[in-house]
Amino acid sequence: MFWSGELIARTAPVRHRSSAERSPLSDRAVAAYVGLAIGDALGATVEFMTPREIRTQYRMHSEITGGGWLRLKAGQVTDDTTMALALGESILRHGAVDAKNAAKAFDAWMRGKPVDIGNTIRRNLVTFRSTGNPEAPASEHDAGNGAAMRGLPVALACYGQPAEAVIAASRAQAHVTHHNALSDAACETLIFMVQDFLAGRDALQVENDRVIPLVERFPVFAWDQKPRENPSGFVVDTLQAVFQSFFATENFEDCLIDVVNRGGDADTTGAIAGMLAGARYGLPDIPRRWLRSVDELTRVRCEKQAEALIALSDA
Ligand code: MN
Ligand code: MN
Repeated sequence: MFWSGELIARTAPVRHRSSAERSPLSDRAVAAYVGLAIGDALGATVEFMTPREIRTQYRMHSEITGGGWLRLKAGQVTDDTTMALALGESILRHGAVDAKNAAKAFDAWMRGKPVDIGNTIRRNLVTFRSTGNPEAPASEHDAGNGAAMRGLPVALACYGQPAEAVIAASRAQAHVTHHNALSDAACETLIFMVQDFLAGRDALQVENDRVIPLVERFPVFAWDQKPRENPSGFVVDTLQAVFQSFFATENFEDCLIDVVNRGGDADTTGAIAGMLAGARYGLPDIPRRWLRSVDELTRVRCEKQAEALIALSDA
């Protein structure tokens, strides 16, 4: 009976590792990944709404309820999380970050008819299908947030590696769809920030070591006190909104509520803020109600992948 093994594998109870059984590092990696999914699911409900529309409809949007322009089920995530999972699976399958394998994984992801997909991503994956070249042509227009939103698996797999290796891995995955200096700088800054928080650094250090140098290199990223509302998919807008919320709040919940209520590309600002806040504050700070309401299969995939990627790293 050739199918019996499969049946057993499917029905055997899945034993979840509790926080107590993971290393503190692995625990924070899990918090970053689950944080990404929670921010995506929370923000997707109000994606493309203005802060005023959100206030009128929800007063304050703070629950994972689905809906939104994508008519999502409650807890459902979007491309931000599913592309990260596709990238992470390709890294685990091949034991390294590789451009061609990442491109194939993204192409397979696109064939699976994802619930949403960015224009730059679609265009450059269609080109990859015909050319087989996993590096998109450099373009000053491809400065969307589509590569930055999915970089977490690189941060985890390359934890403990020298900066040059981390940067090379980030560009390998990013350039499949976004070959652009602003996107590169954003991707790399976010990856280094996650790695710093995994190592237990505090927010002030991380801001000094990662965010200030980003603004020095690319002054366009500088932000002031004026709230960034309706952040677009332009990676500079996205990071400004995320950094404003992230550095002005002191816990996971406040950070995510603040950023998604700015509207605009709220699933992506939510996902990126959730990743950073998860790494910074850890699992105990993520509200139980959000852990329960985000899609369970997705949450378990994120948890397992985070653990496996950290196991693959030089930690
Ligand atoms: Mn999305
Ligand atoms: Mn989005």
